[in-house]
Amino acid sequence: MTYPNTQLYINGQWQDATDGRTLAVFNPASGKEIGRVAHAGKADLDRALEAAQKGFETWRDMTAADRSKIMRKAAALMRERAGEIAPLLTQEQGKPLAEAKGETLAAADIIEWFAEEGFRVYGRIVPSRWNLSVRQMVLKDPVGPVAAFTPWNFPINQVVRKVAAALSAGCSMLVKAPEETPAGPAALIRAFADAGLPPGVLGLVYGNPAEISSYLIPHPVIRKITFTGSTPVGKQLAAMAGQHMKRVTMELGGHAPVIVCEDADIALAVKSAGAAKFRNAGQVCISPTRFLVHESVKNEFAQAMAKYAQGLKVGDGLTDGTTMGPLANPRRLTAMAEFHDDAVKKGAQVLTGGKRIGDSGNFWEPTVLVDVPLEAKVFNDEPFGPVAGIRRFNKIEEAIAEANRLSFGLAGYAFTKSLKNADLLARKVEVGMLWMNMPAMPSAEMPFGGIKDSGYGSEGGPEAVDAYLNARSVAIANV
Ligand code: NAD
Repeated sequence: MTYPNTQLYINGQWQDATDGRTLAVFNPASGKEIGRVAHAGKADLDRALEAAQKGFETWRDMTAADRSKIMRKAAALMRERAGEIAPLLTQEQGKPLAEAKGETLAAADIIEWFAEEGFRVYGRIVPSRWNLSVRQMVLKDPVGPVAAFTPWNFPINQVVRKVAAALSAGCSMLVKAPEETPAGPAALIRAFADAGLPPGVLGLVYGNPAEISSYLIPHPVIRKITFTGSTPVGKQLAAMAGQHMKRVTMELGGHAPVIVCEDADIALAVKSAGAAKFRNAGQVCISPTRFLVHESVKNEFAQAMAKYAQGLKVGDGLTDGTTMGPLANPRRLTAMAEFHDDAVKKGAQVLTGGKRIGDSGNFWEPTVLVDVPLEAKVFNDEPFGPVAGIRRFNKIEEAIAEANRLSFGLAGYAFTKSLKNADLLARKVEVGMLWMNMPAMPSAEMPFGGIKDSGYGSEGGPEAVDAYLNARSVAIANV
């Protein structure tokens, strides 16, 4: 299966970097180089910024209906091309083909929802409190050209949430997509280009992340920053954006608690939380990471989770029947070994997994640890890998206190049949997204985002469009 080299997309043209620089792309299942990606320099960024300004002026002045038509065409192209795009994602990122196809098709759904939502960028007419002949209006305008920074775990999904919302609001966007997984984002941008998006409305660059962000964020053309990635990098970029008074959306890391109450349906909890845990080999910001299980059902739950993990078929995502692929890069393998050794040293028991598989590719066994001490690194830092840590609790208040102990506040899960528990959890667990008695089901129409150190702003629902709009007051006296 061929994997393409990836170029930059600037002012409606696919092109190499001005100085011809490229970076290698590796397949995490084999560790082998499979292609190259263009590395943008300052001259490329300057052209991309100029194009983003012109693209904004064109797109802002088009009707919602015209924008929607192009967006819907892009969605149709993503659906049509899913069979060709999915293997690119698997080759560059490692996820099983079925997950890669799901990600590609979900992009089409997201684009379509936002294409419709663009029709609902309404202002308001507000009666004057002093004079009825004064007409007061609230106008909603696109903020301007946006710089977007996206990570490697969902090469398409992380881009499309930003692009679809920004385009529906009338903004242009310059995307700095991940150098490690460049073909997926390029396939998405290509769908928009082939759907007839005017030049400059979307741009795509790769290169040195820190150099590009420190050039784009302060640049006067850029009016808003949106970043998905780790909390430390997010804080750095938000600080820089603050210095230059730029609007910001931050989708950062999480450390999702899973609260399994004594009255939970254990089979449902294992199936739902197990699927969420090991999807994309745990490299998901909303991946369940701290399993807090009532002491009366802890052993039953832990054994069943270990069995679930043992039932996964780990391998190259392109191979039929693979249910968990390799980790996306060797950094994650090193991290898994550190998390594991630290937890075991501090007293955790290994129920299953805990080792690298083979010596080529980044494969790590699906791992279940029990009686993980609170001081273990895996219960404090985001693991971002296929490891489930389990602890017992006695009273639900203890589980809630543990869920809220960390500075993260992205996703959470709970399993209970009691309305009283469900209501308490909904009110008290400090997360941006809580799923009860089900796996994570993020959708375009629901807010997606965190609180506390997991960031601010949302990438779903009408809130996502609002994040790309300025609200302005205009009052006219009828003289
Ligand atoms: P990292 O923290 O260096 O990078 C995370 C992402 O931010 C990458 O896509 C990277 O290209 C980008 N980045 C880094 N420095 C940047 C800068 N100065 N300007 C702009 N972009 C920058 O580390 P990593 O090894 O790639 O990932 C490790 C951790 O990142 C994971 O453990 C996880 O916590 C987090 N992560 C989170 C998500 C998410 O969906 N929220 C996705 C990927 C990684």
